Amino acid sequence: MFVVSEEVCRKVVSRADAFDAVQAVFAAMARGDARNFPVVREALGHADALYGFKSGFDRAGLALGVKSGGYWPGNAQKGLTNHQSTVFLFDPDTGQLQALVGGNYLTAIRTAAASAVSIAHLARKDARVLGMIGAGHQAQFQLRAAAEQRQFEKVIAWNLHPEKLSILEAVATELGLPFEAVGRQQLAEQADTIITITSAHEALLDSGWIRPGTHIACMGTDTAGKQELDPQLFSDASVFTDELAQSITIGEAQHAFKAGQLQEADITALGAVINGDHPGRVTDDEITVFDGTGVGLQDLAVAAVALRVACEEGDAKEIAL
Ligand code: NAD
Repeated sequence: MFVVSEEVCRKVVSRADAFDAVQAVFAAMARGDARNFPVVREALGHADALYGFKSGFDRAGLALGVKSGGYWPGNAQKGLTNHQSTVFLFDPDTGQLQALVGGNYLTAIRTAAASAVSIAHLARKDARVLGMIGAGHQAQFQLRAAAEQRQFEKVIAWNLHPEKLSILEAVATELGLPFEAVGRQQLAEQADTIITITSAHEALLDSGWIRPGTHIACMGTDTAGKQELDPQLFSDASVFTDELAQSITIGEAQHAFKAGQLQEADITALGAVINGDHPGRVTDDEITVFDGTGVGLQDLAVAAVALRVACEEGDAKEIAL
C-alpha cells in the first residue's frame, strides 16, 4: 500500500484537478453510478470535537474508501487546522487497502471545488461582485477557486471576527481584486455571488436582503443544527445540492425541510445540471442556492487523483501493512 502525505497532496493536486474530479463525481452520483454511504458524525464529549466517517463507492471512477476525521475547534490555538482527516482508499476488486492519503488539504480543495462547480453552472455569467461570509481556514480556498469561475471585479466580505478578514484581503490582493470589509446586509445587497463558509448555528443572511439573480453557495452547514441562511430563502430560490439525503438532514436545507417550507422534490442534484438533465439557472432574476453538504465521494475522488499522480511522479511512499 501507499502513503501520500499532506505535503505531496499539496504538490500533486491542483485546483483544476479538484474541480474536474468533483464535477465528474457529482455527475456520476446523479447518474446513479456513484453512491455515498450513510455518514457517521458524533460529538466525542472530549475536546469539544466532532468525529466521523464519510464513505462511498464510485463505480465509474472505481474509487472505494472512507474519510475519517472531524472538527476540533481548539486546534487553532495549537497551530493546527480545526479539521483533521485521513482518506483510506481500498481496491474495489479485492478490498485490500490501497492507500492512506492525508485529508486536510484535500478537504479544503474539494470543498472549494464544490462551490466553484456550483458557480460555474449556476451563477449569472455577468456576476461581478463576490461576497464571502466567513474567514476561517476554508475561506481562502473558497475565494481562490471561485475567482476562477467568473470575471469578478471586487470581493466583499464579512466575518464574525473581523480581524481575520486580513487573510482574505491578502488573497484578493494577490488575485488583483479590490477588497472591502462590509456588514452582512450590505454584502447581500451588493454581491452577485455569495459563499457562506462558517460554523454558525443561526441565519446570517436575511432572505429579504438577497437580490434577484444572486447565486449563494452555502458551504458551512454540514451537521444537524448548523445554519447560515434564512429558511425563507428556500421558498424564494431554486435549490440545488450535492446530495439530497444529506441536504435535508445535515445540510442547510434541513431547517426549511423541517419547517415544511421545502419538499425533497424541490431540490435538484447539481449533477443533474452537469449531465444536462436539468437546465439549472433559467432566468437572470432567479436566486439559486447550492447546499454544499460535503460528500465522502468528493474526498475519494480527489484522493484517487492524489494517489495516481503521486505514483506517476514517484512521490508516493510504498509500505507493507
Ligand atoms: P474555521 O474554524 O477555520 O472557521 C470557522 C469560521 O466560522 C470563521 O470564519 C468563524 O469566524 C466563523 N464562525 C464561527 N462561529 C460563528 C457564528 N456563530 N456565527 C458566524 N460565524 C461564525 O473552520 P473552516 O475550516 O473554515 O470551516 C468552516 C465551516 O465549513 C465549518 O463549519 C465546517 O464544518 C464547514 N465545512 C464544510 C464542508 C463541506 O463540504 N460543506 C467542508 C469543510 C468544512
